[in-house]
Amino acid sequence: MRKPSPLIDPFDRTISYLRVSVTDRCDFRCVYCMSEKMQFLPKKDLLTLEELDKVCSVFVEMGIKKIRITGGEPLVRRNILTFFEGISRHLISGALSELTLTTNGSQLVKFAKPLSDLGIKRVNISLDTLNPEKFKEITRWGRLDQVLEGVQAAKSAGLAVKINTVALKKTNENELHQFVKWCGEEGFDLTFIEVMPMGDFGVEDRLDQYWSLKDLRGELEKRWTLEDLSISTGGPARYSSVKETGQKIGFITPLSHNFCESCNRVRLTCTGQLFMCLGQEEDADLRSALRINSKNDILLRQRIRSAVARKPKGHDFDYTRQKVTGQMSRHMSHTGG
Ligand code: SAM
Ligand code: SF4
Repeated sequence: MRKPSPLIDPFDRTISYLRVSVTDRCDFRCVYCMSEKMQFLPKKDLLTLEELDKVCSVFVEMGIKKIRITGGEPLVRRNILTFFEGISRHLISGALSELTLTTNGSQLVKFAKPLSDLGIKRVNISLDTLNPEKFKEITRWGRLDQVLEGVQAAKSAGLAVKINTVALKKTNENELHQFVKWCGEEGFDLTFIEVMPMGDFGVEDRLDQYWSLKDLRGELEKRWTLEDLSISTGGPARYSSVKETGQKIGFITPLSHNFCESCNRVRLTCTGQLFMCLGQEEDADLRSALRINSKNDILLRQRIRSAVARKPKGHDFDYTRQKVTGQMSRHMSHTGG
């Protein structure tokens, strides 16, 4: 079969990375991500695991090299291991160079070893505080000890761990150095993320929560020697290494400095909507393409190609002048962070 031409967007960016949200549900209710009483999608709207496998496989045939599974909490989706098992065939064949996931860590005691056995090499674990009470405040429903056990299970299973921490003003500011120290001792990379205006929350909340990574970096440099690294994952993170610990620190700065020009990704929701940008409404309906003719994927391929041809230049998130602009009504758990 002739190899399809690569997915290239109107700004000459090659799309090689797919994020897949496998569920909008979660066992936590983080204050910056969900409201306490979330309305979840009806089950019939979700792509089945077979449909998710089909879309991912078509993307791989079209040139996607990296897939990150996310959510909601991906590990609470029923039979999720069956899905990972299926997709891992593309790792074995070499068509896919990386399959990873982003998780809140709550289910890793159960899943770390089976995931590692399937060829998954790394995992991003979201953790915003090392203080049990604060953890409860942020996640509303989570327990820090359970997550820390999950983190250790991932380490023991041989998975490379990256800790994702949302920078939250007045919440985890005073834990910054402790995070760097802990990650350094454990051998974990660490990425800080600026809080983005996703979901229907009060404007004041966002501005109250927002801690610019420019400020955070300035604070870090009071105690650690940061050396900029030239590596890029084609994503929005920029990396430095910490001389004292040797670990890598990433900075995801959609607000204080956006790096959309190097964006290489698209995002599939659990209902089969394809978003070409986290911060824009533009989408494509892949579910109907899948369901109209499940045997033949010509329509699915056409929709993917035409979606990539409409990929916007970048997001419009902005908090300057004490105002939130570029707000997205959909939650991060729907699009998949
Ligand atoms: N449940 C998993 C987790 O928490 O890692 C995966 C999904 S979660 C939506 C993915 C990432 O998005 C997490 O690291 C989370 O902290 C981040 N996130 C959620 N809402 C966000 C927001 N409004 N701004 C910035 N990051 C956000
Ligand atoms: Fe759940 Fe992750 Fe959102 Fe927290 S950030 S509520 S763990 S989906």
